[in-house]
Amino acid sequence: MKKPKDERTLVLVKPDGVIRGLVGEVIMRFEKRGLKIIALKMVWPTSEHINKHYPSHNEWFESVGSRTKEFFQGKNIDVNEHFGTENPAEIGKQVKSWLLDYMTVGPVVAMVIEGMHAITTVRKLVGHTYPIEALPGSIRGDFSVDTPSAANVEKRVVKNIVHASGNDAEASHEIEHWFSPEEINDYKRSDEDIMF
Ligand code: UDP
Ligand code: MG
Repeated sequence: MKKPKDERTLVLVKPDGVIRGLVGEVIMRFEKRGLKIIALKMVWPTSEHINKHYPSHNEWFESVGSRTKEFFQGKNIDVNEHFGTENPAEIGKQVKSWLLDYMTVGPVVAMVIEGMHAITTVRKLVGHTYPIEALPGSIRGDFSVDTPSAANVEKRVVKNIVHASGNDAEASHEIEHWFSPEEINDYKRSDEDIMF
């Protein structure tokens, strides 16, 4: 089993983050926390690449769609009016089709981050999926107020600056999907011995 400090995760600065000039700000937060960038590149992704980046199984469609549905219901907005369905998997499929549009409007900055429980640590730094719900201090909470009640109503995804792998399975798939083994670097940060 991997040591907690050797865990790896994939982060993308999404097109809105790159276009807004937030690449340095995003990277700085990971570095400051004591996480290590071990691979980094800018790519203008194809729709095909994004399609394979996000899952296409029902479980994922349902989990995305049920959160959307819950959010809409909490705001008393008619789900049916905007999605033409109340079925979470069908809603999730629509969100994915908008993701293909949004993630290909410009380049993304892809990176592999290694460090202490990297997957959950990075997710905390990134914040809630919906920036309007994200806590100040998190990336999404400091740089955006976007929300499904504005975005999904306009048939676009919530612009939330960063993608970060959600769990072990996503991290392994996504790292392999974006980087070849030769692009991933093994080195030691000068502060590692002092911090851990
Ligand atoms: N998304 C959206 N509306 C929703 C749920 C998701 O626009 O109701 C978009 C949003 O850009 C999100 C992406 O779809 O980042 C993937 O959703 P996921 O649930 O995996 O959120 P994440 O892991 O990015 O926080
Ligand atoms: Mg996710």
